[in-house]
Amino acid sequence: MKSVQTEHDTAAYQAKKLLADLDLHCSALHAATFPVTDPIETHRAIYYAKISADFANELEAETMVIHSGVHRNTPPAQRKTLTARIYGEVMPYTRKLGLILALENLASNSHAYGKDPAELNEVLDAIPHGDEVGITLDTSHAAAANNVQQLVETYHGRLRNVHISNPKHRPITEQTPELNDFIARLKRYGYREPLTIELSPKCACNEIQRTRLTLEKALG
Ligand SMILES: [Zn+2]
Repeated sequence: MKSVQTEHDTAAYQAKKLLADLDLHCSALHAATFPVTDPIETHRAIYYAKISADFANELEAETMVIHSGVHRNTPPAQRKTLTARIYGEVMPYTRKLGLILALENLASNSHAYGKDPAELNEVLDAIPHGDEVGITLDTSHAAAANNVQQLVETYHGRLRNVHISNPKHRPITEQTPELNDFIARLKRYGYREPLTIELSPKCACNEIQRTRLTLEKALG
């Protein structure tokens, strides 16, 4: 997975070269996000989503991970209007590129709205053609909100991406019962999409490697 971090992060050449050198395929791209509070800011959120979609298209990614696009302090009625306005422009654009959007569950302290199924469903309902939008399950955010199981049970049929790590995006260094239960649930529901190791930039290379080995063991 590749992340678009800023509005200036628009040159796909470096990422494309890295993928070719390592003989890898980028299946998902994390869009640059901007949680809107005021209608005047919607153009910025739309612009971020569109440059991210262009980047995803250049890397031939199938999925683009998105956040709700609205700030959690926005009043309910305005949340709906802003979401509809942003994704009313973004959806036709990404559909034309053949790109699937996957809305991510967020941490409780995130600026953007969408931490649990109730909030995510509200966002999906407000997005025009929201039934075409998949879900990205982030285990770090979900573990902190204590809703990993609830998210798998609610969205197993529309999961497009799983971000896996311990809370606060710390490495996974042991095969805990919670990890085994999570993997077993994904297998039971026939999950075939990517499992993305999403760690804090503070993690060292050996922690990334240990996380990978622990996950490979847990996957069996
Ligand atoms: Zn994530």
